[in-house]
Amino acid sequence: MITYFCKVWPNKTKSEELVDAYHRSFRPYRDEQILTAGDQCMQEMEYFPKPVDVISRINQGYLATTPYTIEEGQICSKCKVKSRCIREPADTGEWECRQCYSGLTLEQHRKKVQLIIEQMGKMGKKIIEGDYEG
Ligand SMILES: [Zn+2]
Repeated sequence: MITYFCKVWPNKTKSEELVDAYHRSFRPYRDEQILTAGDQCMQEMEYFPKPVDVISRINQGYLATTPYTIEEGQICSKCKVKSRCIREPADTGEWECRQCYSGLTLEQHRKKVQLIIEQMGKMGKKIIEGDYEG
């Protein structure tokens, strides 16, 4: 990304110190976030973006629209089971499996979903019966 920045703002030359400084600042963030925010900087900014310019864009834009991430094959931070996990907030949060996140076992979760479906079914039936009465 810094290579691109140097192309867009040719008065700045790429140096090891420069790259190192950016690397340190961006350590807590994911590559895709940095790249998205970096692209935004290239479109919006008149001067060479400082790390803070990129980070503020990460915080405003990306996190605001994606408050959590869900990924397969993550280790749950609570029960240590590898499964499909959710992380909230998207970056600073810890991975949690559905069970730990919702506080429901898989069985309880199934029952809850089933109950919702049953309730909806009853409502549907009532509406149909109501139509006949009317
Ligand atoms: Zn868990």
